[in-house]
Amino acid sequence: MGAAERVAVGGPTAILGGALAGIEVRCMACGAVSPGDRPLTACPVCGGLLDVVVPIAGPIDPAVFGRGLPGPLARSGVWRFRPLLPAIPDEAIVSRWEGNTPLYRDDRLAAWAGLDAGAVRVKHEGHNPTASFKDRGMTVGVSHAKAVGARIVACASTGNTSASLASYAAAAGMPSLVLVPDAKISGGKLSQTIAYGAKVVQVAGDFDVALALLRQLTAAWDVYLVNSVNPFRLEGQKTIVFETLEQLAWQPPDYLVLPGGNLGNTAAFGKALRELFEAELIDRVPKLVVVQAAGAAPFAAYWDGGWERFAAVQAETVATAIKIGNPASTARARRSVEFTGGLVTSVGDDEIMDAKAEIDRVGIGCEPASAASLAGLRRLVAAGTIRRDATAVCVLTGHVLKDSDAVAAYHLDDHAGLPRPGANRPLRVAADLPSLERALADALHG
Ligand SMILES: *Cc1c(COP(=O)(O)O)cnc(C)c1O
Ligand SMILES: [Zn+2]
Repeated sequence: MGAAERVAVGGPTAILGGALAGIEVRCMACGAVSPGDRPLTACPVCGGLLDVVVPIAGPIDPAVFGRGLPGPLARSGVWRFRPLLPAIPDEAIVSRWEGNTPLYRDDRLAAWAGLDAGAVRVKHEGHNPTASFKDRGMTVGVSHAKAVGARIVACASTGNTSASLASYAAAAGMPSLVLVPDAKISGGKLSQTIAYGAKVVQVAGDFDVALALLRQLTAAWDVYLVNSVNPFRLEGQKTIVFETLEQLAWQPPDYLVLPGGNLGNTAAFGKALRELFEAELIDRVPKLVVVQAAGAAPFAAYWDGGWERFAAVQAETVATAIKIGNPASTARARRSVEFTGGLVTSVGDDEIMDAKAEIDRVGIGCEPASAASLAGLRRLVAAGTIRRDATAVCVLTGHVLKDSDAVAAYHLDDHAGLPRPGANRPLRVAADLPSLERALADALHG
């Protein structure tokens, strides 16, 4: 496409479109291939979900990762993996040194989940620039938006996507628009989004309503959508898997466990594992375990029913990041679970919050949705579905500070008339030494 040519879908002028000429997207439903030099979130032929085509010609030597890139890109935990990402030109890339997150081995968490010492690691995606894994997708999504000459970038979000978009759009010098549900999104996430300068619109309704409304807007307006229906975002999220396997010296665990909300990550993880396998970087594929909150578990029900029938639900859970009743990436996520021989389960809010308290108390910390991974692992071990000598990596998707209200509610409030087991309540004392000593004696010896 010529540099000044208008794109057919009414999107923005593709200023760097020529440089994106080699990038293609393929519809997973009908197989139609479209050029990747324009904003596209659905197949132009049938409306199906799209994948970015990543050609893998033969085995890849892991030593190539990070090699031959400009410093900032070589340091990024996303762009280091350029041979397995769409070839967006350097000058369009908006990177904030994302990724490079720690992979912790923790034997207390292994014991809590019912597995042997050494069997559980957690990949802490809360260590990204805006404190969730969303940054890995956003660096690719916003870079693609910049490459195609988008003027405004937008998303609907339960909080973390909006915080990430706001930050990356600010870094790119582009205006951003965020639609959030008017109820129950965390104050921390909303604060980030406002602080980074996005135009925030609170929509009367839940996430699913907000996304449907935004999709109507992007059909009519010149706005680039970065929700996870955008195939470029998922390309960045693949690097959670790449980096984890690299940290494990390319020795896969038996299970890779993650929370499932809109199922973009599940979609990305399956694609990542397929590509690693094709590139002969791994010689076996870990099983994906997708864990949903019981009050927002349409994908778990779909799996339970042998993929017979998918039905959206009205979502309700304390884990707001996975409070999604009609996941956008269901079809792609099913493909991921099937490809890996994986499984899908769900856990109640109490299990999520107890798992979170364990993760927090070992000094790691995460937000509620993240803890669904460990809660699901524990449940599957208890059920005998996962053997006690299996190995697992649980993905912690967001930082403990993302939802401080959830921490306060767990530790400070009674639950059915009683404190939670392990509730850690601050003491209140008068400002004199005897009062302090009395309170401490009770607390430490009592
Ligand atoms: C977005 C998000 C999820 C859910 O990921 P999906 O790709 O929508 O399934 C889980 N945890 C956190 C912290 C998130 O921000
Ligand atoms: Zn199609």
